Amino acid sequence: VSAPNKKAKAKASTQALPNTFAVRLLAWQEVHGRHHLPWQINADPYRVWLSEIMLQQTQVVSVLDYFARFTQKFPTLQELAEAPLSDVLGLWSGLGYYTRARNLHKAAQMVQSEFGGQFPPSSAELVKLPGIGPSTAAAIASICFHERVSILDGNAKRLLARHLGFSDDLSQSVAHKRLQTLANAQVPKLAQDMPRYTQALMDLGAMLCTQRKPKCEACPVSTDCQARLTDRVEALPIKTRKVKRSQLRMHFLLRYITAVTDDDLQLKHSIAGIDAVYLEQRPAKGIWAELLCPPCFDTEEALRSSLTPQEQQRLKTMHSFQHVLTHKDLIIQAHWLRDEKVSISSIDSTNSPNRPNSTPPNEGQWYAINQSKELGLPVPVRKLLFP
Ligand code: SF4
Repeated sequence: VSAPNKKAKAKASTQALPNTFAVRLLAWQEVHGRHHLPWQINADPYRVWLSEIMLQQTQVVSVLDYFARFTQKFPTLQELAEAPLSDVLGLWSGLGYYTRARNLHKAAQMVQSEFGGQFPPSSAELVKLPGIGPSTAAAIASICFHERVSILDGNAKRLLARHLGFSDDLSQSVAHKRLQTLANAQVPKLAQDMPRYTQALMDLGAMLCTQRKPKCEACPVSTDCQARLTDRVEALPIKTRKVKRSQLRMHFLLRYITAVTDDDLQLKHSIAGIDAVYLEQRPAKGIWAELLCPPCFDTEEALRSSLTPQEQQRLKTMHSFQHVLTHKDLIIQAHWLRDEKVSISSIDSTNSPNRPNSTPPNEGQWYAINQSKELGLPVPVRKLLFP
């Protein structure tokens, strides 16, 4: 074979060889991926970990403000570890899934006490910390310590299952493990490419390989995407176990103090113009554990029977509304009651644990409304108090 012919053959065979999955993802991320997210700037393990916990079950756009406020108040792991849990829950308020905030605080304290303030540099060690599952551990280890391990969160799972044509039922843990093995085999050869690769999986899963109407025409791995080639894009990944939903009714008793006359109050779901509200800490287990909430009853009868006849007459009951949790729909009804025994001057406007004399100990506390935005409140309570 003449030299020019050899060259042409070699060129043809190189062209026939597709770049690996990882190579194509890396190239795509460089041009089309996200590069300016706040946790990508000064990407130290503390900031990456914080962002990964916040991003669990939450979209980037909702996390941006929370991340800014958190890192402003707790610029270092040590400051977070030393803060009272109530401050952490207060800053987390509105982001939902509060177990994440409690675990975040616990993990910060563990890293301080057991690892001298430095995150352990491997996914095998990271996964032992509270609130860090295998995919979060892989994200931190690959981005911060260049470990060659693949994330497998919802987005990555969907992208990889489709590209590989993986049709095992991912509600089975054995299938999940098998996909993790296949995913780990796809990572780049060079450890230094791991941060970009992990970001590429996240970006491609969120931007193109979406659950509905994926943008396959713009996808860098569409030529050998098995789901696309076999027309199973909408069918993959397979997950048969459906989350069972249930419904729960809750009746909130919102005791309030106001200087405004009743005629001037706006009565909708919420009441604008109140000065203080009475809140209790929720139990340590169950919905909204340890957050502050108005006294809560299963039925309106139970709520009314906790009141004097005069109070029952003054009670203002609003239309119920729905609040959706992961496995539950809450039907919430707010009952507002103007308190005539407590005066605003008896309430500590800094919301420190001082109680007015009329409040029995361990049974909740009055909170000045203008100081309450910083408190750890469940989303529906926040909506009621700050319409
Ligand atoms: S071609 Fe479509 S289905 Fe396949 S990985 Fe790309 S976006 Fe996903």
